[in-house]
Amino acid sequence: MSVVLSTNFDSGNIEVVDASRPDDIRLRVRDDAGGEHRQWFHFRVHGVRNVPLTLHLENAAQCSYPGGWPGYKACVSADHVQWRRVADTSYDGGRLTLRLTPATDTIWLAYFEPYSWERHQALIGRCAVSPLARVERLGASLESRDIDCVVIGSGPLPVWVIARQHPGESMAEWLAEGLLEALLGDSPAAVAVRERATVHVVPNMNPDGSVRGHLRCNAAGANLNREWRTPSAECSPEVLVCSRQCARGVGFFLDVHGDETIPTCSSTGPAWCRATARPTYGEKSSSATRWSVSVRAFSRRTAIIPSALARRCSR
Ligand SMILES: [Zn+2]
Repeated sequence: MSVVLSTNFDSGNIEVVDASRPDDIRLRVRDDAGGEHRQWFHFRVHGVRNVPLTLHLENAAQCSYPGGWPGYKACVSADHVQWRRVADTSYDGGRLTLRLTPATDTIWLAYFEPYSWERHQALIGRCAVSPLARVERLGASLESRDIDCVVIGSGPLPVWVIARQHPGESMAEWLAEGLLEALLGDSPAAVAVRERATVHVVPNMNPDGSVRGHLRCNAAGANLNREWRTPSAECSPEVLVCSRQCARGVGFFLDVHGDETIPTCSSTGPAWCRATARPTYGEKSSSATRWSVSVRAFSRRTAIIPSALARRCSR
């Protein structure tokens, strides 16, 4: 049986250069729209039971952040539910090479553990039926996917948490899922946050890029966290609709990201600038409120953020 690679599913991304030999499968990561960025990959390999595989990502050095490859381990799953790392992942400065011998007929390989658009729907559905949450539709992406916002609490502090402006940082939506579950729970921190704050969580700011298998950009090739200064309906409606809602007032703003080099999700530390009503992303501003957080990646039920929010709300 020959080895067959496929990508025609949610967030699939790989270009097959040559898969005629299982011990020398040559691949390339496809570009995001716009052609500037590439790094996310997600593909299925069939016909691999007990077959020693060697897969090369030949354009690893031309990816957006080659500095993340040394020490990086790719993700693999036999059932597309449970994921683990490919221990024998190596980078030689040009190619990223994965070596493994699967015990099953089919495997999936990915840059990070995927978070699918279908799982996003289920997350929004769970929130929609909770008596503690309200689901708002901020608007639509360029490809008509919903930009969802879950609103929890009724306190005076307006809190915004947005995730996955960079769609290839799928851990950011895993964090959003954990945050929502924690905020809808009955821990003292969650109760305190719901009393003192009104929390808006946007689990996926870039659904088009997520489904397309992009690293950083939306369907127009826009890098969304560079769009807050002048968002437009043509290039970045995702930011435009969110920023209009944020303009009503933000007391605390968290933009969740993740990468290869730290074992946590992170906020890149954007500060909310009240003067311009947008996040500042490293710019200096005296009217900014600065706060950042790191939590364990894939900590789906973490109470860290609600606890931290509760502490901040009590100040
Ligand atoms: Zn990012």
